[in-house]
Amino acid sequence: MNFHIKKVAIVGGSSAGLLSAVTLKYFFPKLHILLLYSKKHAPIGVGESTTAWFPQFLHEHLNISREEFYKSIWPVWKLGIRFEWGVPHISHFNYTFDGQFRYESQLLSKIPGFYCMHDMRQASRYSILMDKHHAPLLHDGKGNIKILSDGFGYHIDVYEFINYLTAKALSLGVDIQDLEVLDAKLDEYGNVQHLCCADDLKVNADLFIDCSGFKSQLLGKALQEKFISFGYRLFCDSAIVGNWKRRSPIFPFTTATTMNSGWRWRIDLRDRVSFGYVYSSSFCSQDEAIQEYLSLTPYATEDLRKISFRSGRYKRFWVNNVIAIGNASGFVEPLESTGQHMIVETIWRVVLALQDSNLCPTPKLIDATNRYVVDLWDEICDFLTLHFKFNRRLDTPFWKYCQEETDLGSLQNLVELYQDSGVCHAIAHLIPKSSIFEIDGYLTLLCGQQVLVKNLQPMADAEITEWLKYRQILHNNLENSVSPQEAFYFLESLY
Ligand SMILES: Cc1cc2nc3c(=O)[nH]c(=O)nc-3n(C[C@H](O)[C@H](O)[C@H](O)COP(=O)(O)OP(=O)(O)OC[C@H]3O[C@@H](n4cnc5c(N)ncnc54)[C@H](O)[C@@H]3O)c2cc1C
Repeated sequence: MNFHIKKVAIVGGSSAGLLSAVTLKYFFPKLHILLLYSKKHAPIGVGESTTAWFPQFLHEHLNISREEFYKSIWPVWKLGIRFEWGVPHISHFNYTFDGQFRYESQLLSKIPGFYCMHDMRQASRYSILMDKHHAPLLHDGKGNIKILSDGFGYHIDVYEFINYLTAKALSLGVDIQDLEVLDAKLDEYGNVQHLCCADDLKVNADLFIDCSGFKSQLLGKALQEKFISFGYRLFCDSAIVGNWKRRSPIFPFTTATTMNSGWRWRIDLRDRVSFGYVYSSSFCSQDEAIQEYLSLTPYATEDLRKISFRSGRYKRFWVNNVIAIGNASGFVEPLESTGQHMIVETIWRVVLALQDSNLCPTPKLIDATNRYVVDLWDEICDFLTLHFKFNRRLDTPFWKYCQEETDLGSLQNLVELYQDSGVCHAIAHLIPKSSIFEIDGYLTLLCGQQVLVKNLQPMADAEITEWLKYRQILHNNLENSVSPQEAFYFLESLY
């Protein structure tokens, strides 16, 4: 049964709900959009590190100017992820957002990546900037500053982001109400007829968007959609989260550090640093996790809190006239910061389907959109398994278990090819078609963790010289880069 959408009701007033409201109102100004949230249920309050697609979506698809966004939020530029991970004798490797395996240089004759298998340090501009702790901005010496390129993510304060989006949604004409949704009344076909809310209020709409977070009030509870767990492949299920008032320079990247029973993030915001220890409750208790966390972040005692989660996704995110976005539709641990990414990606797929169907989506279109989004979730799960299977940093029971028991799923062939021949042209055929991480992501994890290659071709002296020359040129071009603090100072005077 097709349905024509004139009114949309959104449940949830955090990142997913507000981004959905703003996006739908921006692309379909005539839609009546009602957003319900409840002060009884606080936003989860994490989701501060993004991929590069997130700023692109805000600035290019929603047409939000950088100036407006920066003045409201002051995000920190994220050039990539610094992984303190892999083999013990190397301090870190960088997963950059500027495609460090895709360089084209007349100096280098081999396939991009061949050199990184031997030495991945500072293989791209972003990697050099990350090691310098510099932002992707260059200073021309005359008081002008220029953004190097657009392919970076953000670190955002999630509460400031919610405030910003609330004002944006109101200015676009979204109707926002504090009203708790208790249940939903379904018709005989499994469509939601109306929401049953506090004070016996009923809310009707043609399309319902569930952004209620882990509660999954509509998709999970009312529609009872099947949940597909990733728990047998990704073993973490808990996090300790805290903050540290800034007392050191800003890092323009997220840091992921190996811990005894999981890993710890560091996300630098302008005035504070967020730290979280993601761990497996089968390998350490909450008290042990807090102890280990505090031993490394002694100042991060304010607002320390515990979050439990389950990794997985619902079988479909779009069922009849219900769409779930954000944590209400799926979740994996934030090692690759994919939460906000999946929010904007899912909304974007919905926008495209609604545009294609003139707001009258057919079951086949809904099926195809489901397939696309579900494949992305599954790719994220596969990609994360690479991080756990090959990290040899610590010899604890958790990491031994990960090395032995992590199921690589559909990446098995890709890994076997890499272990046989290293970075080669054929690897590109084994990367999913609509990949979030693309070939750079996969090769970063394989080379960065120094996964052993049976037939590794040696690097001739001439090639070593070329590789060093290439990196020196990159360095020279970045002589005028500035720190995030300096960049903020310039931009504040500009805006
Ligand atoms: C430990 C951890 C770390 C994370 N780190 C990152 C990260 O670095 N980067 C990233 O991209 N993602 C991260 N995520 C994912 C992150 O949580 C999501 O990206 C996103 O912020 C979640 O937003 P949401 O809108 O789906 O849910 P929530 O923030 O939970 O919001 C739910 C909303 O629904 C409303 N609501 C709930 N029930 C009802 C009801 N019955 N009636 C009315 N309203 C209701 C609430 O009031 C609230 O407004 C992390 C998640 C976890 C658990």
